Amino acid sequence: MSIFTKIISGELPSYKVAESEEFFAFLDINPNAYGHTLVVPKEEEDRIFDLSNDAYLRLMDFTYKVAKAIERAVPCKRVGMSVIGLEVPHVHVHLVPLQEMADIQFTKKVTLTKQEFATLAAKIDSEFKVLN
Ligand code: 5GP
Repeated sequence: MSIFTKIISGELPSYKVAESEEFFAFLDINPNAYGHTLVVPKEEEDRIFDLSNDAYLRLMDFTYKVAKAIERAVPCKRVGMSVIGLEVPHVHVHLVPLQEMADIQFTKKVTLTKQEFATLAAKIDSEFKVLN
């Protein structure tokens, strides 16, 4: 069972920003930038291109909605998107609010307090609910 499956089931805590029947979005615990969010299918699959074409398109559709909420909640030049998966073998799309190229390079990290994480997650969650 992946660490993200434990997060989705509530066994491990997370700062949730959006959820549907099929997908779950939460703040990355070691963010590249303020607002860095992970979008995850609830059904555990390792590699994104092992998803069915339909499941992949539904993931992209939900990711689009989460990105729109992040754009409203977090001042940035744009929201960048990346899929890596070398650390956690459970499909996840990184959505990262960008100010500069370094924000999407996974070397620059920012530190947030628990309160900052909670406030940020609530802000994105509320924008997501306004839009959906
Ligand atoms: P990747 O697998 O795409 O290389 O990176 C996995 C990402 O998941 C990293 O950005 C890392 O900070 C994040 N991550 C790993 N474990 C946890 C966790 O327990 N909670 C949260 N919220 N994020 C995690």
